[in-house]
Amino acid sequence: MAEALEGLLVESRSFVPSAAFKKQSLCISPFLYDEADYDSQQFWSDQALELDWFEEWTDICEWELPYAKWFVGGKLNVSYNCLDRHVASGLGDRVAYLWEGEPGDSRSITYKDLLDEVCRCANALHELGVKKGDRVAIYMGMVPELAVAMLACARIGAAHSVVFGGFTSASLRDRVNDAEAVALITCDGAWRRGSIVDLKAIADEALANCPSIANTLVVRRTAHDIAMKDGRDHWWHEKVASQSTQCEPAVMDAEDLLFILYTSGTTGKPKGIMHTTGGYLTQVAFTHKYVFDLHPETDVYWCTADCGWVTGHSYIVYGPLANAATSVIYEGTPDFPERDRFWSTIAKYGVTKFYTAPTAIRTFMKWGDDLPAKHDLSSLLLIGTVGEPINPEAWIWYQEHIGGSKCPVVDTWWQTETGAIMISALPGATTLKPGSATFPLPGIGVDIVDEAGQPVGTPGGGFLVLTQPWPSMLRGIWRDPERYEKTYWGTYEGKYFAGDGAKRDEDGYYWLLGRVDDIMLVSGHNISTTEVESALVDHHAVAEAAVVGKKDDTTGEAIAAFVTLRNGIEASAALVEDLRSHVVKLIGPIAKPKSVLFTDELPKTRSGKIMRRLLRDVAEDKALGDTTTLADPGIVASIKQRYLDTAPAED
Ligand code: ATP
Ligand code: MG
Repeated sequence: MAEALEGLLVESRSFVPSAAFKKQSLCISPFLYDEADYDSQQFWSDQALELDWFEEWTDICEWELPYAKWFVGGKLNVSYNCLDRHVASGLGDRVAYLWEGEPGDSRSITYKDLLDEVCRCANALHELGVKKGDRVAIYMGMVPELAVAMLACARIGAAHSVVFGGFTSASLRDRVNDAEAVALITCDGAWRRGSIVDLKAIADEALANCPSIANTLVVRRTAHDIAMKDGRDHWWHEKVASQSTQCEPAVMDAEDLLFILYTSGTTGKPKGIMHTTGGYLTQVAFTHKYVFDLHPETDVYWCTADCGWVTGHSYIVYGPLANAATSVIYEGTPDFPERDRFWSTIAKYGVTKFYTAPTAIRTFMKWGDDLPAKHDLSSLLLIGTVGEPINPEAWIWYQEHIGGSKCPVVDTWWQTETGAIMISALPGATTLKPGSATFPLPGIGVDIVDEAGQPVGTPGGGFLVLTQPWPSMLRGIWRDPERYEKTYWGTYEGKYFAGDGAKRDEDGYYWLLGRVDDIMLVSGHNISTTEVESALVDHHAVAEAAVVGKKDDTTGEAIAAFVTLRNGIEASAALVEDLRSHVVKLIGPIAKPKSVLFTDELPKTRSGKIMRRLLRDVAEDKALGDTTTLADPGIVASIKQRYLDTAPAED
């Protein structure tokens, strides 16, 4: 694909951390890279010593491709590391979570409060017969009890499987049955955009076909009428509240299962990814500390993800708590009651570190610059992003309008499978380029290879692979070792293939190019969706764009673009032409979209990622593929209708 990669959209503009930022930064020189280059296993072993272990490991890493064990023989407990040791060292009064409810209520929860509630919940789970080695499903809104439930499972050695609260009963049912969970923790309802999502009713529908579930715990949040099944359903405020605040943490092996989590399903059927205890906690704690340049005494950190995704697991619960951080958790949507809720929340709590997704950033661009401008965001010191490639234009908008042109932006590449951040800047030590995730973190082996699996060199583009085991790597797909071996290790001998395309520029910076399944082949040239989309988003009228390759008799594939305009911009035939020329100007005639369709929304997964495979089905007028992970099935239906109605301009 190299020809498509030469010199495209590489912003000349770079961002050097200010002297003020460097002065307080944890890492302003390459020393961590040097240490890790010298001996990466020793490096990770040093990081693991930041945790408290009941028993130390005998071997740092045992690697029998494709299975790794880290900190072999080591014993620890994740909830002990996230709570007890902080309370024991005098931090019991530090706030762990500043929780902001969607309707405007709020709670402040200290480390001591959290420890007490986790012990109560753990005791309640014991009483309900949940044992070490069992699985517990969690299906909740973003209330503090969600983190409590996860930590309580970790305390007693039961693996949790969190299912995002926006999923349907069928998705919940399938995940519960796949994991054979023995208990479900849920809520009566969740607040979403001012109305109630009836979580318990959805769960009831699922549980009608989940024979493994013996008990549920139900948090009262919305206090609307729900059905409680005698003998099976227990109110949290009765069952949990009455328990003792003493509960011995289970002694867990470093390789004991901590959780199962299903991927977001952008490319197809979600996979039940398994993560274990010692290596996972080591890498999430390390990355949370250094990528966010954490100062737990003074920082107010906010990750806007949902705990239903890996970002919530690693960077709302385990990383921040392991580091004794103070975090904001927000329950609802960014547009309730108004479209400035995130900005008012940053101002309210004095947030210093903010972590969100490109999909959110592009939505904020669409909503207009005036909304963040109304609020005092000057407390922010660093802002981050995860989930999709961030277009340079969106990066720059984020840095200017949210980061006050002073905050480093850390673009973090990782996956459910990797458990923790793999490619990202160390903000005090790295010169940033808008749109680039910069470099692999210390102790992480990354390369880019061609079809034959040969390294492409620098500069060069191809397939992103991971070349050595890392502590928080997935330990497999739940009960499907064959799929694990084939999906991740079956393409390039000895290497983990992540499914993403990437290029490395002449300075060694990594640029993520999107899914390789999405790469388009136009007249014999490989063209990445990300680059054409970035060229479209670079146009002042465009907030968001998705492009796909559509079968074409002359060119093999032709580029079909779906474009969402910024607030107040009118669609017109002239604008279509302007956008097509803009892409030609930035990339070249080969990347010129054959058709452009304006649409108010793009089809996205429930985690907010664009689902190009469905747009491809639309463009080729095929039956839609698996839509179960789609956030709003109505959107793709209406795009399909518009596509048929308007027969978008082509030449
Ligand atoms: P599935 O594997 O079921 O299709 P998914 O890949 O969307 O779902 P996740 O594990 O949530 O599930 O997402 C990981 C993917 O998100 C990465 O493989 C990559 O494509 C994309 N991604 C995440 N962060 C970044 C980033 N900073 N830059 C570019 N892409 C990113
Ligand atoms: Mg994936």
